[in-house]
Amino acid sequence: MYDYDLLVLGSGPSGQKAAIAAAKLGRRVGIVDRRDMIGGVCINTGTVPSKTLREAVLYLTGLSQRDLYGSSYRVKEEITVGDLAARTQHVISRQTDVIRNQLARNRVALITGTGRFADPHSIWVDGGSGHESKITFDKIVIAAGTRPARPDSVDFDDRTIVDSDGVINLQAVPRSMVVVGAGVIGMEYASMFAALGTKVTVVERRDGMLDFCDEEIVESLKYHLRDLSVTFRFGEEVAAVEKHETAALCILKSGKKIVADTVMYSAGRQGQTDDLALDAAGLEADRRGRIAVDEHYRTSVEHIYAVGDVIGFPALASTSMEQGRMAALHACGEPVRELQELQPIGIYTIPEISFVGKTEEELTNAATPFEVGVARYRELARGQIVGDSYGMLKLLVSPQDGRLLGVHVFGTGATEIVHIGQTVMGCGGTVDYLIDTVFNYPTLSEAYKVAALDASNKIRNITRIDG
Ligand SMILES: Cc1cc2nc3c(=O)[nH]c(=O)nc-3n(C[C@H](O)[C@H](O)[C@H](O)COP(=O)(O)OP(=O)(O)OC[C@H]3O[C@@H](n4cnc5c(N)ncnc54)[C@H](O)[C@@H]3O)c2cc1C
Repeated sequence: MYDYDLLVLGSGPSGQKAAIAAAKLGRRVGIVDRRDMIGGVCINTGTVPSKTLREAVLYLTGLSQRDLYGSSYRVKEEITVGDLAARTQHVISRQTDVIRNQLARNRVALITGTGRFADPHSIWVDGGSGHESKITFDKIVIAAGTRPARPDSVDFDDRTIVDSDGVINLQAVPRSMVVVGAGVIGMEYASMFAALGTKVTVVERRDGMLDFCDEEIVESLKYHLRDLSVTFRFGEEVAAVEKHETAALCILKSGKKIVADTVMYSAGRQGQTDDLALDAAGLEADRRGRIAVDEHYRTSVEHIYAVGDVIGFPALASTSMEQGRMAALHACGEPVRELQELQPIGIYTIPEISFVGKTEEELTNAATPFEVGVARYRELARGQIVGDSYGMLKLLVSPQDGRLLGVHVFGTGATEIVHIGQTVMGCGGTVDYLIDTVFNYPTLSEAYKVAALDASNKIRNITRIDG
């Protein structure tokens, strides 16, 4: 009766996983996206380009090796945008190929074009040739993602004043840059450009940044970024940006003026729902373009699901994939297990940050007692070998039963090694497990054992006195 059992609108991480999960269950599945956006924001403009750029910056600047070879160490003296773009383009095209192949192998029809609802069971797809075709479906998953929010008052030109999409296409590495907004994306790019030698000023309306992270780790990050000549202007707002022939002039509400080659706005994201003709399906989005869903990712119209960034928080590729898979299982009438509550956060600043579980502040506010166990990379053989003298791992441990309440990592490989703590926590493990476990030597993972011993020694000292 319908062209597809399940149609997916958008081929980002959530859309891909939804399509493949349904195809594996033998459903007829189609996925719609624009020709140049296969893989979504994740592959084309967001996660993958930014993380590839970061690797290119770390490699070419030699920054991570300077502890070993001295502060003048560089792999390449004059780093051009060409050097950076080459690696990014290479990874994007390989990843796009992998996705196309996965979809083809699973017999998911890839329909290129832009879709909008015609009615609750069909969409029009504009393939760009001026001709629209109608596609019908039994169920649909909206996985249309987001785009950078652009304040109306700012005159973006994709050269001097850019957002996070434009920053990956700059014509030259800027000598100076103002980053407006100290959220995750803003701070990741601020780190990369600072590492490239750009004089970065971060302007943030709030009094601090990344306030959901461990305070001590955010302090360490600020220290490192200041060391790379980053200036922070917290509690400040940009009142106007003037474009001049050779640079932009940023005027803050406090009256300060900052000259910069480039101004990058990182002012949040807007759901890509305005062109979806949601009303034709009986749906609506909120002011930020987000669609409301229930615990099964169903919208207010039962056979229409929405997943990924378009439904809002946490708006990560990692969670979006799981949402897509779970929505498809539900749409196909399969049993769906709940997502584990413990979810890691990874922030690819330089140095990187990752954590899982509670922060010290959250535990203190909840009057939950905890002990802290710390391991510093410089005390680990692997830390010395890789030249990381600043990294640290911090465990927050319950003094009552030794359970891990939070794991916070700063430095090399943070986003990878956090998963050890996540697994131990997820399985209800205690510091004793980490103490009684043999870790490969020399590794950064060994930090878990050192931090576990630290926490357990502190707990023992208290017990000795307190009983
Ligand atoms: C700079 C940056 C860095 C990031 N870094 C990380 C990170 O390190 N880790 C992490 O987990 N997450 C990161 N994210 C977030 C991550 O990219 C998103 O969470 C993820 O891409 C969301 O996936 P999605 O499936 O919702 O769709 P998206 O990836 O947003 O893709 C949506 C797709 O839908 C398509 N679409 C929209 N409307 C239509 C339509 N009408 N017809 C057809 N197709 C349509 C779009 O063309 C697009 O391809 C980052 C994001 C940015 C911007």
